[in-house]
Amino acid sequence: MTFQDDSSPLLIAGAKPVGFGRGVPQEATDILIGGDGRIAAVGHSLQAPDGARRIDAKGAYVSPGWVDLHAHVWHGGTDISIKPQVCGIERGVTTIVDAGSAGEANFHGFREYIIEPARERIKAFLNIGSIGLVACNRVSELIDMRSIDIDRTIACVEANRDIIIGIKVRASGVIVGAWGITPVKIAKKVAKILKLPLMVHVGEPPPVFDEVLEILGPGDVVTHCFNGKAAANIMEDEDLFQLAQRCANDGIRLDVGHGGASFSFKVAELAVQRGLLPFSISTDLHARSLDNPVWDMGTTMSKLLSVGMPFEAVIDASTRAPMEVIGLPTENLLSPGTRAEFTVFEVNDSDLSIVDSMGYNAHLPRLIEPIWTILGHEAVKASRYVPPRKSALESSACPHCGWINAR
Ligand SMILES: [Zn+2]
Repeated sequence: MTFQDDSSPLLIAGAKPVGFGRGVPQEATDILIGGDGRIAAVGHSLQAPDGARRIDAKGAYVSPGWVDLHAHVWHGGTDISIKPQVCGIERGVTTIVDAGSAGEANFHGFREYIIEPARERIKAFLNIGSIGLVACNRVSELIDMRSIDIDRTIACVEANRDIIIGIKVRASGVIVGAWGITPVKIAKKVAKILKLPLMVHVGEPPPVFDEVLEILGPGDVVTHCFNGKAAANIMEDEDLFQLAQRCANDGIRLDVGHGGASFSFKVAELAVQRGLLPFSISTDLHARSLDNPVWDMGTTMSKLLSVGMPFEAVIDASTRAPMEVIGLPTENLLSPGTRAEFTVFEVNDSDLSIVDSMGYNAHLPRLIEPIWTILGHEAVKASRYVPPRKSALESSACPHCGWINAR
């Protein structure tokens, strides 16, 4: 059920606000949204005007619209991307941030064919490699200096500042090979010139995680922070853990970026136990991580909840924290006059068995499940992604990246 074509007022009755910041009470309240998509009133027992639509939230939570800081939605322009609607409003996500699927050479197509027609807000980190993820992990976007065009990258950002909110570089051995740390240094230089944050994917060396952190500054993002790869795992090297902790205190943002190969329950659990929480929770959803092991934003949030991250922190890390990274306003999101953008969700008891990127199983005792997404005057029914039953093909997928050779 969707109400998107109906611009009559909308009353959300009996929803518990969470994630709106200090001063917003958490007891169940009503929210009235006008036909212009702006919040008209917030309070108890609001009277809906004649002809208003009504959603009875029955005590479900309402938060700012979820923001997925790391996904891949340049569908058709890269072999790895999914369509935005697979991971967007029907999954409770109102803003998708594409993490470097496009480089300067193909960003215009991404903008015209995907970003502009999408119902979700889509922002993008531009890949420092000109070709982006065209043939991801088969043709590296960072082979040598011919892969980067600094002038064109700067021009592409300048022409698309409304969408491009940062630079992305993938800093792991399978991509950079003998080129090592150099692409990270170039990407950081370009990001500095443009006054934008840099998002770095970390993984198997080269370069080593430690030398990546030394290049970054406040506002930059390290994605795949809780990966379990040897020599990239923050919990197997005390010096690296302490460096990561200092960097997080200094304003470098640790982002989950679950993905097919980059989230370990064990690493996340140990880090959270020692007080190192991720700044942002993101899925790294793409064609090779969707059905196994990521599924969607709500399940990824539930995984962080299951390793001991407090509920309010999970919601902040999925809403206002990533909004801050991409420059969206984070105040007064539940105040009259502000455009409505919410996710209505339940936290249900569960005995769901799920896996991390290392193939380890765990039970989710509590499951965060979106039920409605509110975008202005639109109300869209939302639900969890349910993967198709495991086929013979899927069970032959590479355990590290999910890649199915026969496809
Ligand atoms: Zn990614």
